[in-house]
Amino acid sequence: MKIICIGRNYADHAKEMNSPVPKEPIFFMKPDTALHREVDFYLPDFTKDLHHEIEIVVKINKVGKNIEPQFASGYYTEIGLGIDFTARDIQKICKESGLPWEKAKAFDSSAVLSNTFIDKSKLDLTNLSFSLTNNGTVVQKGTTANMIFSIDQIIAHISKYVTLKVGDLIYTGTPEGVASVKIGDQLSGFIEDQKLFDLKVL
Ligand code: MG
Repeated sequence: MKIICIGRNYADHAKEMNSPVPKEPIFFMKPDTALHREVDFYLPDFTKDLHHEIEIVVKINKVGKNIEPQFASGYYTEIGLGIDFTARDIQKICKESGLPWEKAKAFDSSAVLSNTFIDKSKLDLTNLSFSLTNNGTVVQKGTTANMIFSIDQIIAHISKYVTLKVGDLIYTGTPEGVASVKIGDQLSGFIEDQKLFDLKVL
């Protein structure tokens, strides 16, 4: 199983990062050791600026390579929700030095994932709202209507380069509002009004 994440897939987030809007999907990966499905999350000590990035997650259920966008919807049925945790201070150093992002993005427990997945037939994937609350206050809110690249376009693009396998997870990018978390924070992720995960920062 691999975890593939899309960067800058919402224009307002690219803007808050002072990054240009991409012309094709940007992707990077996290190892399976990044997966985190527990409520308790221990803040890593190597960063002073760990940012939450709430993201819609697509679970691949069929092996595919060179998938055409019009056939991409046949490669997934379940939609979940996760956080692409990012050590923003380390990422900044990596970016400025022209180095890969793994230290900032791929560390243990950096890919929070809901235990609940929803069948896509029950959702409108062209306008699906999702949000993250911290201590009860909404800190990020997005809709898939604002994605720069749709789920199907993302799958088509990734599969040109990397074979997708059953169980692979695609984190589809975060809307604006990314911010630091601290010990004591209580994060909750929602698709529409349904809570999909709780996370306690320890
Ligand atoms: Mg992200």
